[in-house]
Amino acid sequence: MKRLTRTVRIGSVMIGGRNPVAVQSMTKTKTHDVARTIRQIRRLERAGCEIVRCAVKDKNDASALSAIKEKVKIPVVADIHFDYRLALQALDCGVDKIRINPGNIGATWKVKEIIKKARDEKTAIRIGVNSGSLPVAKTRRIKHTSAKAIVETVEDALDIFIKQDFHDIVISAKGAHVIDTIEVYNILHKRVMYPLHIGITEAGLPFRGGVKSAVGLGILLFQGIGDTMRVSLTGDPVKEVIAAYEILSALSLRRCKPVLISCPTCGRCEVDLLRMAKRVESRIFRYNEPITVAVMGCVVNGPGEAREADFGIACGKGKGIVFRHGKKVCRVRESLLVDTLFEVIDENIIDR
Ligand code: SF4
Repeated sequence: MKRLTRTVRIGSVMIGGRNPVAVQSMTKTKTHDVARTIRQIRRLERAGCEIVRCAVKDKNDASALSAIKEKVKIPVVADIHFDYRLALQALDCGVDKIRINPGNIGATWKVKEIIKKARDEKTAIRIGVNSGSLPVAKTRRIKHTSAKAIVETVEDALDIFIKQDFHDIVISAKGAHVIDTIEVYNILHKRVMYPLHIGITEAGLPFRGGVKSAVGLGILLFQGIGDTMRVSLTGDPVKEVIAAYEILSALSLRRCKPVLISCPTCGRCEVDLLRMAKRVESRIFRYNEPITVAVMGCVVNGPGEAREADFGIACGKGKGIVFRHGKKVCRVRESLLVDTLFEVIDENIIDR
């Protein structure tokens, strides 16, 4: 059962409360390289990313934020470590949220300066704690679990914000280990009323990182925990967005992107199904429609599964049948199957 948190505005996106879980990613360009950063954010927008974070390492990165903001549609978050003055500069540039790591910003007065400015600009702040950057004193004192150290670090930081009567807060407390992360968020979920941004930090390369994130984030989301999420992957950030929607869709929490069903293939398959499934996958994610597309290898389960989906292909020997909403549209040879499928999808989407 989801416990409702406060609602916090991040630019045009509301998070927390009854709002759907928002999908975030982070640019991997140098933020001061404005053209490349804008290009990457536009790719993320097309993939369905709803909030994007940019690393702000120095003054050049901070001053690039105004130009970036002008050219992109989704809210931009400035990711700040170490230097509180960069947060102030990013707020001047009109960012939609600041993410700070209280473990490395330093003295409390510096955090208070950021809070004061964020209040003036009506901008939210994410308190982002990661297991890899906890205050040294905290990790020395709490030796037995990193979960306990993470929760204490969040609560210490939160205390400063609450004393300043500042509540436009989002909290993240990511661990690199799935079990620690689940433990941390379960504790925070019971103790705080602010929206939680969930993720498994430094999850890894897309395959293993995606699996690890699906397990950790899937469990949390199933428990009703999480208002916004990022699947952190070493690689193209667009894959982070695709993975996030797959997780949300598998849990029936959000359906706004296509879902691909494809059979694992076996000795009965008589077409190059792997190639066909890859081609379909690369094309369907350009659609912002909650359609289900099936790519099936043979007549055993193929026609049945393909009929259940909105669109599908079920293959035979060197040929296959294209289905739409359970009805056979046509039979074509293998080389034409994918293009014919997309002609049928396009006709139907235009008809809506
Ligand atoms: Fe094998 Fe056919 Fe099932 Fe695919 S649909 S796994 S080819 S039996």
